Amino acid sequence: MRVHLVNPSDTSFGTAVITPRWLYVLAAATPESFGDPVICDETLEHLDAMSIAPGDVVGIGIHTGNALRGYRLGRQACERGATVIFGGIHATLYPEEAFNQGGAHAVVKGDGDRAWGQALNDCRTGTPKRIYEGGRVSAGEFKSARWDLLPRDRYMWASVQTVRGCPKHCSFCSVWRTDGQKPRQRTSDTVIGEIVELRRLGYRFIALADDNFYPVSLTDMQLAERQNNPQRLAELKAIRQERFELMSRLAALPEDMVFFTQITMEAAEDPQFLDAMRAAHIQGALVGVEAVTPEGLKAVYKDFNCCGENLVKRLQEFRSHGIHVLGSFIFGLSSDRPETFAATLDVAHRAGLTFAQFVMLTPFPGTVDFERWEKAQPEEAQVEGVPITRYWLTPPEIRPKMFMPHPVMTSEEMRQRTQSVWDDFYSFRSVWKRSRCTPSLKARLAFIFISKLYRQMYASTGIATDSARRSKANRWARWLARPCRRLFMAKPMPELQVPGAVLS
Ligand code: SF4
Repeated sequence: MRVHLVNPSDTSFGTAVITPRWLYVLAAATPESFGDPVICDETLEHLDAMSIAPGDVVGIGIHTGNALRGYRLGRQACERGATVIFGGIHATLYPEEAFNQGGAHAVVKGDGDRAWGQALNDCRTGTPKRIYEGGRVSAGEFKSARWDLLPRDRYMWASVQTVRGCPKHCSFCSVWRTDGQKPRQRTSDTVIGEIVELRRLGYRFIALADDNFYPVSLTDMQLAERQNNPQRLAELKAIRQERFELMSRLAALPEDMVFFTQITMEAAEDPQFLDAMRAAHIQGALVGVEAVTPEGLKAVYKDFNCCGENLVKRLQEFRSHGIHVLGSFIFGLSSDRPETFAATLDVAHRAGLTFAQFVMLTPFPGTVDFERWEKAQPEEAQVEGVPITRYWLTPPEIRPKMFMPHPVMTSEEMRQRTQSVWDDFYSFRSVWKRSRCTPSLKARLAFIFISKLYRQMYASTGIATDSARRSKANRWARWLARPCRRLFMAKPMPELQVPGAVLS
């Protein structure tokens, strides 16, 4: 009985940007008696169903975007005589779908760190339960990933998680509902242990795959003080102190290490935190800007963000502390107007963003937006026989790109305008100008390569409606990805020791 872990993907680029961490965490959660699981990440290559034998167990992790592909693989694995177990956020929200569409024998809901091992043991005795309630395990129970199983020549960035959960409640995001609003922080020992292991293997670029690396803002602490709530204040201070402790240990790692994380814009008000990040080699962060107008921010429950000139200044603050920003924007909010696209592009240029992504508003299951949208859909609304409220079950080539009717723009108009914002931000002229942030000509060329790859992987394959443009973008991305990967690798450091705790 072999165990397979599969990350489904419609598109494969041969080389991937970031390791799907969950595959290696569940590999660690696989009891030793099963041997090493066979890992298949379809963002690299598609699964060869013939590699599955009768009696094997196949674990498939799905989110809404790859659920349909995952179901197809589940049925194939079932036909091969395997026991199929689904997990991941989408299976947690729609377990019945995994049984009906994906041939599932069992579904693990919530965190798999503990439940995956239980499910496997039950499979061995032929008594798998239908549903395993993984829940939210405590930070002390998070498994460290099995990096010894990572292929050496396929990924640009490794990924390590330091905190799960986010205290905010943005309307388009499901993280705060699935991972919870209470941050669950791993100890610095476990985080540093994984990072040192990765650097020994030659990975010097590491994504800190956190929901929000800045779980306590200065405003949160001021509020607890104003409310005269000493217990809450002490809790917040302890969480913050743990962040600083982790960063002080990251700072003691080899100088060539580069980390990237996700953070809320409030961190820009906290120079002490930004300085600690920079010292910790955290050189970049994805910042959810979402909208450039107050109406837009209010619509997504993100009014803790700034807009107008304050927004530009706030984003520039990251750069002035040596942190590059990947700004994330959403188009399609009901307050958007045709001029919003140009205004957003203007902010993206003036705020000194190093990278940017422009996504179209999509109601993802598990979010407040989805609930509202689902209720508003007429029962008979369908695409190719599939209810519109289950849009992820339609093949990607006919799946609508926009779902929320807009008061003044058609879906096609918004799609075209979004595409042209991507085209402008990643035009050669703009990329060349931004590449001045790099220290050498070689680094500048690398920057151009990576910018172009980013655009091909995330814009051209995602937004384009015609299949010719999508497959051309796919070919380009494959071609660009291989040389890009080499730019990220470093000489392995097998002798590297774990730095000790630094007392502040
Ligand atoms: S979008 Fe970011 S800040 Fe908002 S809830 Fe999700 S993880 Fe938290």
